[in-house]
Amino acid sequence: DPILKATGITRIYPGGTVANDGVNLTVRPGEVHAVVGENGAGKSTLMKVLFGLEKPDAGSLTVNGQKVDFTGPKDAIEAGIGMVFQHFSLVPSFSVYENVVLGSEPAKGISFDRAKAIATVRELSQKFRLTVDPLPAVRRLPVGQQQRVEILKALYRDAQILILDEPTAVLAPQEVEELFTAIRALTAQGRTVIFIAHKLPEVLEISDRITVMRGGKTVGEVETKDVDESS
Ligand code: ADP
Ligand code: ADP
Repeated sequence: DPILKATGITRIYPGGTVANDGVNLTVRPGEVHAVVGENGAGKSTLMKVLFGLEKPDAGSLTVNGQKVDFTGPKDAIEAGIGMVFQHFSLVPSFSVYENVVLGSEPAKGISFDRAKAIATVRELSQKFRLTVDPLPAVRRLPVGQQQRVEILKALYRDAQILILDEPTAVLAPQEVEELFTAIRALTAQGRTVIFIAHKLPEVLEISDRITVMRGGKTVGEVETKDVDESS
């Protein structure tokens, strides 16, 4: 059974642009599922819909067979979806561990356990091969490590499905290899990755399956091993 299934997602922006036009996406548990399309194909809109940031005009979403309402990121996070933005949602002057736990601290009146937060970040970081020191301010880190913080933030909220929005666009080649190592650690431990990309070659090494988008529509799904790399 799919872990995530989006059916007939349609989003028409004020002004009339049909950014998503009956989009279907079926993602299997533990796979790396790439969504590939040119600029304007509708990828960002679909990701925003999946994470509850855009309300679709039509369509439905299930995670593990359970219906998810498009009421906002809170419900998406509760359903197990984590979003790793291309332009990170981090606070540059805050430490790594503060960024990871930010927004999910204990309720008012319960003391925040700094040592425990740091230990948890270290643990997650080792488990998923997302090497980063929990203590320095995020602005001091190279972009590849900032991205790891963003991924750790989603994992801290127990994301089972991680959506990575064009994650290699900002990375140096060495950092891309490190990201791929982390992605393999994620799927080896049962997490599922949705990998948004601009061009097919970016995902041939890392993805199991590819959904292609064009002009607001999903035009097909293929297994990566069946893709002819010379075409
Ligand atoms: P992609 O991420 O594949 O580049 P987008 O989802 O960003 O595609 O865009 C799909 C289409 O919707 C484009 O024509 C884009 O200009 C338009 N669009 C995206 N966001 C908005 C918005 N907030 N308001 C109006 N049009 C938008
Ligand atoms: P990215 O590829 O990083 O998603 P985009 O250029 O697609 O960046 O979009 C940046 C922001 O501008 C997004 O929030 C998108 O929804 C919005 N946007 C894109 N196209 C339009 C448009 N035609 N009108 C209004 N907003 C748009």
